[in-house]
Amino acid sequence: MATTSYLYHALGLVRYQHMRTEYRRGAIYYHVIRKRDERRCAHCGAYWDQLTMHGKFERTFRALPVGRRSQLVVLHGHVQHCRRCGKTLREPIDFAKGKRRQLKAFERYVVDLCTIAPIKHVALFLGVGWDLVKEIFKEHLANKLRRRKLKTIRYLAVDEFSIRKGHTYMTVVLDLETGHILHVHEGKDAHALIPFLKKLKHRKINILAVAMDMSPAYLQAVRQVFPHVDIVHDPYHVVTMVNRAIDETRRDIVRELSGEDKQVIKGSRFLLLKGLEHLNPRSLERLMMLMEVNEPLYAAYLLKEDLRSFWNLPNQELGAAFLDSWIHQAKALGLQHFSHLADTLERHRQGLLSYFKHRISTGPLEGLNNKIKVLKRQAYGFRDMLYFKLRLYFIHEATPAFAG
Ligand SMILES: [Zn+2]
Repeated sequence: MATTSYLYHALGLVRYQHMRTEYRRGAIYYHVIRKRDERRCAHCGAYWDQLTMHGKFERTFRALPVGRRSQLVVLHGHVQHCRRCGKTLREPIDFAKGKRRQLKAFERYVVDLCTIAPIKHVALFLGVGWDLVKEIFKEHLANKLRRRKLKTIRYLAVDEFSIRKGHTYMTVVLDLETGHILHVHEGKDAHALIPFLKKLKHRKINILAVAMDMSPAYLQAVRQVFPHVDIVHDPYHVVTMVNRAIDETRRDIVRELSGEDKQVIKGSRFLLLKGLEHLNPRSLERLMMLMEVNEPLYAAYLLKEDLRSFWNLPNQELGAAFLDSWIHQAKALGLQHFSHLADTLERHRQGLLSYFKHRISTGPLEGLNNKIKVLKRQAYGFRDMLYFKLRLYFIHEATPAFAG
């Protein structure tokens, strides 16, 4: 049987007295009234002896369920006249927020469930609307985000990812030490980044380095706000660039050839993109054939392979010597795409060499790509951009079950 102490211990209602219990349509209703000596003025906080009852109201709130059976609290409230401040107001309610129709305890339960099950399932299980569950969880994430400390941030990675095929991009900033996504913004231009960097600067956060690709937009944004912070162009993007250069070189050569030679080079795409250490005896044989058919392409392949060892060098000095020699050799190949790449690397020499000072990359951000894709597939992300972003901010704690 429900009692005042059940309300207190099971439902978390501290200042209320149990009046009666009612069973209706499979749900349990607890009728409660605020204890007389716990009455306060909603305006000035005056005690019960300053208040006179001036009318009544009734409100129903959703409480924690018992198993799958709903429990509801029916509050028999009073309008109170306060002799101290002269106001006539409804009694304060401290077990629910504002105009909400559920107990705070119920909301905490929703949040707990949302960390282990998809929103859809939580809503179904609790017998409430999907929107309600989402709004409660969203509010929880937003509060958590507000409490997040930025003070310790030192290393950032910034990159873009597409949220719709081809066109719509988002800029993401990752704290490389905690793995937290710190900033998400639509677009991939400098404006997607500058306000966030300004916020960090304003809070006097001591950023040491930022890992990024060679996109001029991000470079410009960092340079504008933090002129002296090191920029690190990470291995990930450079390897992608050199792979693209060899692929395009191969395609150019195929276009100019005919007959058997054409077939040899045409079929070499995956061979050329693979690492030397992954080639089996048959592939090595084909590489030799390639060397006979087209010497420059073969040399380009070796140069591509060579570049990967750059990031394993022990210090910046050796790195600089290696990079300069690599750029020189790439230009000497006489292949358009490699000359172009060599120019690009030369222009970003400083950012490439900063790697040896900090040894950071956007790798951890690339590692989040799959999790972001899962989130992307869930269409609600785009119907509710704010919620999509909030989920991204906490993607590091998301488990597969969490998605939904
Ligand atoms: Zn008052």
